[in-house]
Amino acid sequence: MSKVLYEKDINKEVLQGKKIAVIGYGSQGHAHALNLRDSGFDVVIGIRPGNSQKKAEEDGFTALAVDEAVKQSDVVMVLLPDELQARVYTESIKDNLKEGSALAFAHGFNVHYHQIVPPANVDVFLVAPKGPGHLVRRTFEEGAGVPALYGIYQDYTGNAKDVALAYSVGVGGARAGVIETTFQEETETDLFGEQAVLCGGATALIKAGFETLTEAGYQPEVAYFECLHELKLIVDLLYEGGLENMRYSISDTAQWGDFVSGPRVINDETKARMKEILEEVQNGEFAKGWILENQANRPKFNAINARENQHPIEKVGRELRDLMPFVKNPLK
Ligand code: NAD
Ligand code: MG
Ligand code: MG
Ligand code: MG
Ligand code: MG
Ligand code: MG
Repeated sequence: MSKVLYEKDINKEVLQGKKIAVIGYGSQGHAHALNLRDSGFDVVIGIRPGNSQKKAEEDGFTALAVDEAVKQSDVVMVLLPDELQARVYTESIKDNLKEGSALAFAHGFNVHYHQIVPPANVDVFLVAPKGPGHLVRRTFEEGAGVPALYGIYQDYTGNAKDVALAYSVGVGGARAGVIETTFQEETETDLFGEQAVLCGGATALIKAGFETLTEAGYQPEVAYFECLHELKLIVDLLYEGGLENMRYSISDTAQWGDFVSGPRVINDETKARMKEILEEVQNGEFAKGWILENQANRPKFNAINARENQHPIEKVGRELRDLMPFVKNPLK
């Protein structure tokens, strides 16, 4: 089994007296910055003018231009959108990194696919919380943490690992457990996971179930509750105690259905498609498509996004959630 590290195994003093620049104040950025500050670290934000900058200042941070924040700092955590990182790196980060400082990421995409090639005289590491940014913050505030991966790409100072681990304490990852990885493993497993299971796989499964029921004449409201809303309750049980705990809580009828029907929905054919997806992540095909899509100003991303927002499950869901005041929509 891989070695899982916790707060008690890590010396966070190595970051005492050091300044950390969090570049970007979006989903991950605000969570890292706030958690690091609450952990006693000195944090400055590097951001362009706009809403994120205002938010950072409202939260009490000094928000500087990216180049200025980089110049002052000993650790530079890049939490910009993956597709913009290479450009901002070239324009504002590269020439301002102090010798012996650390360049850090929460996802290995740009380094692994060589869109960013760091200079030889800095440390390069990743600390990737395995969860959405807003939950990285919420979980931390609740006194818990989201598990994180850390990985070292380049160890110029000889301290890269200690700095990465101290950082993982600061963001709260070490409360839940930190595991060592490589940039390759983090990048490939993260992309595969979000495409095949967590985001792509889950949304496709939900929509297919909803469409099957509504096309058979069942009420969309009933189909919504069955195929989307209730999934959260099932996932909570999985999170707390794995498949066994979920199956313990559901009826034996549901469990029998799980055994006989689950493998008919997700079958060898589905697994063969998953292997193709993994292969395209490994050979750079997926990365190339995403990089080119951005260079073309996202025609396909925007078209699909608009269509998805109009899906009947989204329409009925918006109406039903409005009637459940305890379900908070952060987009509203
Ligand atoms: P995001 O889109 O939520 O936030 C990006 C931030 O960068 C915003 O504050 C934006 O204003 C700022 N920004 C954009 N262009 C800029 C520029 N030119 N100069 C300065 N600031 C600029 O991004 P995110 O989803 O938090 O992703 C950040 C990184 O974290 C990515 O590498 C991503 O893969 C990784 N990550 C994200 C999540 C997640 O929960 N969203 C989870 C794990 C890892
Ligand atoms: Mg986003
Ligand atoms: Mg992920
Ligand atoms: Mg990801
Ligand atoms: Mg049921
Ligand atoms: Mg049962």
